[in-house]
Amino acid sequence: MDFKGSGTAGTAVSAGLRKQAKLAWDGVLDLVYPPHCLVCERHARPPLCEDCTAHFAPIPEPVCAVCGRPVEGDAPCRHCAGAPEAGGWGFDTARGAAIYEGALRHAIHRFKYGRMESLGEPLGAYLANRLVADALLSPPPPDLVIPVPIHASRERRRGFNQANVLAAPVAEMLGVPLRPGLLVRTRKTPPQVGLAPEARRSNLADAFTVPGASELAGRRVLLIDDVFTTGSTVSACARALKEAGAASVRVATLAAGG
Ligand SMILES: [Zn+2]
Ligand SMILES: [Zn+2]
Repeated sequence: MDFKGSGTAGTAVSAGLRKQAKLAWDGVLDLVYPPHCLVCERHARPPLCEDCTAHFAPIPEPVCAVCGRPVEGDAPCRHCAGAPEAGGWGFDTARGAAIYEGALRHAIHRFKYGRMESLGEPLGAYLANRLVADALLSPPPPDLVIPVPIHASRERRRGFNQANVLAAPVAEMLGVPLRPGLLVRTRKTPPQVGLAPEARRSNLADAFTVPGASELAGRRVLLIDDVFTTGSTVSACARALKEAGAASVRVATLAAGG
């Protein structure tokens, strides 16, 4: 009798049984504790329920044609007047899908700091829908989608780059390539919020590099990030992309202001 053989078969059988038992147990857990929306934790529609997305508030019109922030009547935009660089913004235009408050703010916090990567797909789909179905992105279509990079050490710690996860559904809906490798963050920088414009500029100087600039020559880039706050990060990214030959850089963020 081949004890070794039957032993192996026995191991395979018990592994199969263990797997089945685990699946059955997961099924029981799902019945007792159904998986809930990761944001409101009320509705059994993971990872993000429609009730939560219904509470996302689009940026109220009218908005600044350049930075996309709300403006009052014909008054010049105070955000553009305080652009972080002497020559204005590095990007051509910026648009946010919704205000950075309430359910959206909570969702972004859970996604980024709670490391709930599964929230990125529905949040990215929301951004893509706003850009395409709601025509937040005016023609012509971009040639490439590039996410704002985070430093490699931060990405290792978080397990993912939030902008890259959000950008995937956008690139898919637009039918253009997603090229995260074309823009790299080479230096870690402290947060921009609270710094004066001059300090923001020096804080971000040389923080980004563009490997393989030949791919960018004459291309229209759509740059994706999670939140537009001071605008200095996307502006510095856009400047680096344009210096490397990009014809235009438009910015789209999931949230803005708030
Ligand atoms: Zn919810
Ligand atoms: Zn503006």
